[in-house]
Amino acid sequence: MVDPTSDLNEDIAAEDAPTCQTCGSVLTDHPEHRVITWVEDDQVHSAHFCNDSCRMDWDGE
Ligand SMILES: [Zn+2]
Repeated sequence: MVDPTSDLNEDIAAEDAPTCQTCGSVLTDHPEHRVITWVEDDQVHSAHFCNDSCRMDWDGE
């Protein structure tokens, strides 16, 4: 599917970007961006973090 309204815009819109589960930063340009995924109740969950520090600070929901 081609979206005729989209230009060759490879930037992630802020509203579509993931945010860090720990500090809430929008992860549009974080080279150390971490993502973890897990399965719970037959659903795949994911959590994003700016870096390992935020990852270590996160203790789940
Ligand atoms: Zn963070």
